Amino acid sequence: MSAPAAPTTHDTAALNILKKVWGYDAFRGVQGDIVRTVAGGGNALVLMPTGGGKSLCYQVPSLLRPGVGIIVSPLIALMKDQVDTLRALGVRAAFLNSTLSLDGVREVESALLSGELDLLYVAPERLLLPRTLELLDRAPVALFAVDEAHCVSQWGHDFRPEYQGLNVLPDRYPHIPRLALTATADDRTRADILNVLQLGGAPQFISSFDRPNIQYRVANKEGPKTQLLDFINAEHRGDAGIVYCLSRKSVEETARWLQTQGVDAVAYHAGLPPRERNSAQERFLNEEGLVVVATVAFGMGIDKPNVRFVAHLDLPKSMEGYYQETGRAGRDGLPSTAWMVYGLADVVNVRRMLASSDAPEEVKRVESAKLDALLTYCEAATCRRQVLLSYFGEELPEPCGNCDTCLNPPSVRDATREAQMALSAVIRTGNRFGAAHLTDVLMGHATERVVSLGHHQLPTFAVGAAHDEKYWRGLLRQLVSLGYLAAGEHHGLSATGKARAILKGEQTLALRED
Ligand code: ADP
Ligand code: ZN
Repeated sequence: MSAPAAPTTHDTAALNILKKVWGYDAFRGVQGDIVRTVAGGGNALVLMPTGGGKSLCYQVPSLLRPGVGIIVSPLIALMKDQVDTLRALGVRAAFLNSTLSLDGVREVESALLSGELDLLYVAPERLLLPRTLELLDRAPVALFAVDEAHCVSQWGHDFRPEYQGLNVLPDRYPHIPRLALTATADDRTRADILNVLQLGGAPQFISSFDRPNIQYRVANKEGPKTQLLDFINAEHRGDAGIVYCLSRKSVEETARWLQTQGVDAVAYHAGLPPRERNSAQERFLNEEGLVVVATVAFGMGIDKPNVRFVAHLDLPKSMEGYYQETGRAGRDGLPSTAWMVYGLADVVNVRRMLASSDAPEEVKRVESAKLDALLTYCEAATCRRQVLLSYFGEELPEPCGNCDTCLNPPSVRDATREAQMALSAVIRTGNRFGAAHLTDVLMGHATERVVSLGHHQLPTFAVGAAHDEKYWRGLLRQLVSLGYLAAGEHHGLSATGKARAILKGEQTLALRED
């Protein structure tokens, strides 16, 4: 990682543009460093949470540099809105995607060639057409920004094969700055991005994922609708909010029910007629205090600053999903709530859905690991924010004081001895077995596999027979969540450096009482 360049006159020009076009007085966090790097002709990787302010990182350099900034984005449905917003600010912006007529395409192409554009949004499949590439060969290009860059990675949940074709950019335009932006942070995804866009030597700008103004809460699901209504009435009456449900049916039922209870609510899901969907979205953006009950189809690119709560009546798919969905609350920085209820049935449900999907095994394994991480979060007896951030590779040194476990600590029991048993089972079996096998060893199940590996002769065999399988799986999950165990390939668990303190009895461990 190289240090950002020293301040230059570019900085003044950048701030002027920021003020003149957007009316903002200062860059936020690392935005200024990114703008300086790219405006100066450098490449960069930007890892910033949703709502962090990625757009300005390519918009400002596009205006600073001669030529047009090419923004690659998979979100075709949002391009028109983005372009309209920019045009309203006086920026010469356009988009190229399959929604344009042939005449529309020609118009944009000629504006591009005659230097009449500052920013051009392009869908990846459109960019990769020979016609577009030949056009770009002749056009003045200021930079390439690859938005949602995690789409290059098969490991991620949004994999788009076209994105892998973007390796054409470094090959064909080696001297034009490339900027990759994403809100998905895991190491594998990052490595894939660096590889496809050849950003190996480029500086990486990684922002904190913490959203301190969001209060995270997870409760046991008892009567979800009543729980939701009580929550809204007690804390968010008259506020704008989003309620996520898994199925279209529950979206409609919940919206209708909230209406009968005097909450201004509207349903949104992909099965509704476009007109109804658009009207729900328009109303949400323009009215104060509307609650949208929706499937995850709702929210991509919604930039409403004063969403006061995001509620989950069903489990999200992954921590990434949870983070992205809850991140739509409180973009204005004011206190907001991320509220979720989940129960055993939900866990069984998502597991069954995952198992019966016809996705390739590798994909299923990844998804199941992601689900495990989410469940660990749900069960955490420690600060939720610490668990959330640690999933994204970030360490929060102190409990946050603004999540349910910080505010109402659950009753916890010392589980140091059990943790020692589990950790030594992991180590003695060679740091490579999954939770099922480790549980067999701990409980003393002399399965064929246990015996054939000789694990029934280990001193840890059967030391944990006093607890049931659920207990041990729960304990192992918590150890992963807290970083005492690392999850590797094929779900294999291995003890981390942190585990030593527990094994040596230098540190105790308290876990949530079920
Ligand atoms: P992302 O793409 O990372 O989700 P956006 O670029 O949409 O985030 O920015 C999120 C919000 O923050 C937008 O409303 C944007 O106008 C605002 N914002 C971004 N940077 C600044 C800044 N430097 N000053 C004030 N507001 C900003
Ligand atoms: Zn906390």
